[in-house]
Amino acid sequence: MNKAPIVWVNVLVFSVSFLLAATLVPWYAIRYGFTGGEIIAGILCLGYSGMSITAGYHRLWSHKTYQAHAVIRFFYAIGGAFALQNSILHWASDHRNHHKHVDVNGKDPYSAKQGFWFSHIGWMLREYQGENYRNYDNVRDLQKDKIVMWQHKHYLTLVFTTNIGIPLLLGLISGNMLAMFLLAGLLRLVLSHHFTFFINSLAHIWGKQTYSQKHTARDNHWLALLTYGEGYHNFHHTFEYDYRNGIKWWQFDPTKWFIKAASWFGLTSKLRVTPDDRIERVRVAQHLNSIKSKLSEDDKHSDILALLEQEYELLIEHMNAFYAAQKRLLDIKRKKIVKDYKKTDLYHQVQDLKVRFEIKQRNFLNFELTLSDA
Ligand SMILES: [Zn+2]
Ligand SMILES: [Zn+2]
Repeated sequence: MNKAPIVWVNVLVFSVSFLLAATLVPWYAIRYGFTGGEIIAGILCLGYSGMSITAGYHRLWSHKTYQAHAVIRFFYAIGGAFALQNSILHWASDHRNHHKHVDVNGKDPYSAKQGFWFSHIGWMLREYQGENYRNYDNVRDLQKDKIVMWQHKHYLTLVFTTNIGIPLLLGLISGNMLAMFLLAGLLRLVLSHHFTFFINSLAHIWGKQTYSQKHTARDNHWLALLTYGEGYHNFHHTFEYDYRNGIKWWQFDPTKWFIKAASWFGLTSKLRVTPDDRIERVRVAQHLNSIKSKLSEDDKHSDILALLEQEYELLIEHMNAFYAAQKRLLDIKRKKIVKDYKKTDLYHQVQDLKVRFEIKQRNFLNFELTLSDA
C-alpha cells in the first residue's frame, strides 16, 4: 500500500522549531543567561497559547461546554494562532471526529490505536485526512461565529503577526530582543505544541480508566500539570459536555478555574456540569466491571464475586439515599423555606448519610486492593 504523501510544511515547522529550540536556548542560557523577567514572560506566553487551545478551541468551540463573550473569544482566537495549531474551525472539526470515532483507525484523526508516534505528531506529517481536509460539515454551528470565521480566513496572517509581533513587543519592553525571541517565541512554541500533543498521545496511554473502558482515554495527574488540566482525559471522554476535566477541588485544572473565574465577571456563562450522582454511578459501575473482567475466567472466585455484587447493591442504596436527601436540602435552601437551614434535622441527616456513603464508597473502590492482598 502506498503511504499518504508527506506534508512538508508541517515536517519542516515541527522539526526546525524543535531543533532550534533544543540547541539555541541552552546555548544562550549557558553563554548569557536569561533574566527572571524574561523567564516569566516566556511562561505567561506559554500559558496564553496553551489555555487558548484548552479553554477556547477545546472546551468552548469543540464541545460547547459554556458560552463566552466576544472579548474572550477574540482573546482565544489570537492565542490559538499564536499556538500555531491550525484554525479554530479546522481544529474543532478534527476534535469532534476524534470523539465521535475515538480509537477507530482511519476515522479518528489521531487514533491512539495507531501508536504513540502517530497520535502525538505522526498524524500531521502525512496527508492522512486528505479528503476530509475541507469538509467542515460537523462544525456548521461554528461557522455562524464571526470570530471563528475571521480567524479561519486570516489564519496565516495572524500566525505571523502573533509569533513575530508578541516576542518583538516583549523584546522592545525588556530591551533584549534575542532573549525574547528564544523564550517567548521559539521555546514557548515548541513546548506549547508538545504539551497539547500529549493529550492525544500520552493521555490515551498512561493513567487510570476511572469512568469507562469503552475508549483508551486515561486520567493522569502528572499530565494534568503539563496540559492545563486536560490530563483527566478519561473523565473528559466519558462526560464530554462538562466544562471541567478535573472535578475535585484539589485536581489541577487551571482551564476550569479560568472559565469559572471569567463567569464572575460575566465573560463566560452557561457552564455545563454533569450531576454528581451520575458521575458516581458511572464510576462505581466501571469499578465493578473492571474487577469482574479480571475475575470472570476464574471460577474459584465466585464467592468473591457474589460478595462484591452484594457490596455494590448496598453502595447504590446508600448513594441513592444520600443524593435524594441532599437534593431535598438544596431545594429547601433554594426556596429559602428555612432561614438557617444548617440547624435543621435534614441537614444533620444529610451529613450522616454522606459519611456512611463515603465509607461504603471507599471500601468498594478499595476492593481490588483487598483482593490482591488476600
Ligand atoms: Zn475533547
Ligand atoms: Zn482524546
